[in-house]
Amino acid sequence: MTDLLISDFSNTPYWWEAAPLTTAAGGTLAQAYDVVIVGSGYTGLRAALTLARAGRSVAVFDKERPGYGASRRNAGFLGRTLKKAYIDLKAAKGAAYATAIYRDLATAYESTLAFIEEEGIDCHAVRCGRLIAATSPAHYAVLERELTGMQADLGLPFSMVSRARLREEMASDLYDGGAVIPDLGSLHPGLYHHGLMTRALAAGVALFGESAVTAVEPAAAGHGARFRVTTAVGQMRARDVVIATNGYTPKSLPWHARRVIPFVGYMAATEPLPPALLEKQLPHRRTVIDSNLDIDFFRPAPDSPRLLFGGATANGLDDPAAIAALLHGRLRRALPDLADVKLSHVWTGQCAGTFDMMPHIGCHDGIWYGMGYNFAGVPMGSFFGLKIAQRILGLPDAPCAFESAAFPTLPLYRGNPWFLPIAMRYFAWKDASLARRSPATRA
Ligand SMILES: Cc1cc2nc3c(=O)[nH]c(=O)nc-3n(C[C@H](O)[C@H](O)[C@H](O)COP(=O)(O)OP(=O)(O)OC[C@H]3O[C@@H](n4cnc5c(N)ncnc54)[C@H](O)[C@@H]3O)c2cc1C
Repeated sequence: MTDLLISDFSNTPYWWEAAPLTTAAGGTLAQAYDVVIVGSGYTGLRAALTLARAGRSVAVFDKERPGYGASRRNAGFLGRTLKKAYIDLKAAKGAAYATAIYRDLATAYESTLAFIEEEGIDCHAVRCGRLIAATSPAHYAVLERELTGMQADLGLPFSMVSRARLREEMASDLYDGGAVIPDLGSLHPGLYHHGLMTRALAAGVALFGESAVTAVEPAAAGHGARFRVTTAVGQMRARDVVIATNGYTPKSLPWHARRVIPFVGYMAATEPLPPALLEKQLPHRRTVIDSNLDIDFFRPAPDSPRLLFGGATANGLDDPAAIAALLHGRLRRALPDLADVKLSHVWTGQCAGTFDMMPHIGCHDGIWYGMGYNFAGVPMGSFFGLKIAQRILGLPDAPCAFESAAFPTLPLYRGNPWFLPIAMRYFAWKDASLARRSPATRA
């Protein structure tokens, strides 16, 4: 097993090489802030930056070093879709709702890229395009139907790639063709987070790492503040509180913990490859996901000649060598030219699913939240952070379709997702049973 790993292999994210975690200090703790934010990922920091620039006093607390969460661990794919496909959402909830949701997704995507450009954040953000690789002819047919529906209703571009032409996109014979979405993007998630963090600090945000929030309670009357917040470094009052903990939501926030389903995502980086070998694998440097519910995904690193990839979500493994073995198997299966390459980094991160497979933003008992991104948190976390700040500031703003839905839970669920192995087996069964169908007979 160890021959899959380079000798000085790391089990921290590849992204931390260029964007190492630091223990940012927030200075002296004040007795009161206009806004206290729990969690220092994209959601928390985008809200914090917007609020601080509007003149609010803002403190962000993280249980770990700032950026420790998924925001510096993810794959850096920038998209505008959800697990809940547009045509399924339309069939279930109607065209107006599905269109509004998918328009917000497109706004989240475009506004994140625009924000990065306006701020001059150097994080390799590009519209590289995405290949969705079909895992069977029936998956190909479903993909074509979904994308055709989205193009008709939303005007979103795509082109199908037959099995015979797949090698123009990827050095693989595993897939039955696929689809290219030409304008989707990617970035370096560590550098994006670093850029966001430095701008938040420059705007006056007090950022406290290694300072868990342990309680948020109503404040005693008479202070002009609505909440009393207890942290590992002290107590303070706040007029508004934002919960931005997504897949790391603690049980001490029971209303939120009951609504998100934390699960582990796995990623790896190869050792540096000969540039020609890497170019052969993904000649257009697009991001790649497969069409399964339980996805495998691949991309070139933006800043060195390596391939980054992941998959096998929520498989229950903790040991980096075992994770490396599982992921390397997926790599060899999809890109056999890379069968002998070693891995330099293998890491994990916590994601958050939800019972309706939709991200949620809102305000419960006066406390704001944005979470449940279902693998789409790079644009959606940034977007929800902005939206929450706009709501707190009382700015006139177009409504957000995601605010209209109730945030569901299940009876007896307390934040311990014991059912995940069953759910993952169900997804695998759904992927396989669709693959067995003839392309023409999908329900
Ligand atoms: C392996 C992997 C790959 C992914 N790939 C993609 C992708 O390609 N594209 C995409 O769009 N999304 C992707 N995602 C999802 C995306 O990274 C997340 O949805 C997004 O980063 C969530 O941002 P956030 O700010 O809401 O939360 P996070 O960045 O997770 O931050 C939450 C923070 O809350 C802190 N916290 C928890 N409890 C407390 C407490 N009590 N007090 C203080 N702080 C606390 C945690 O320490 C953590 O730092 C991926 C996720 C993973 C794990």
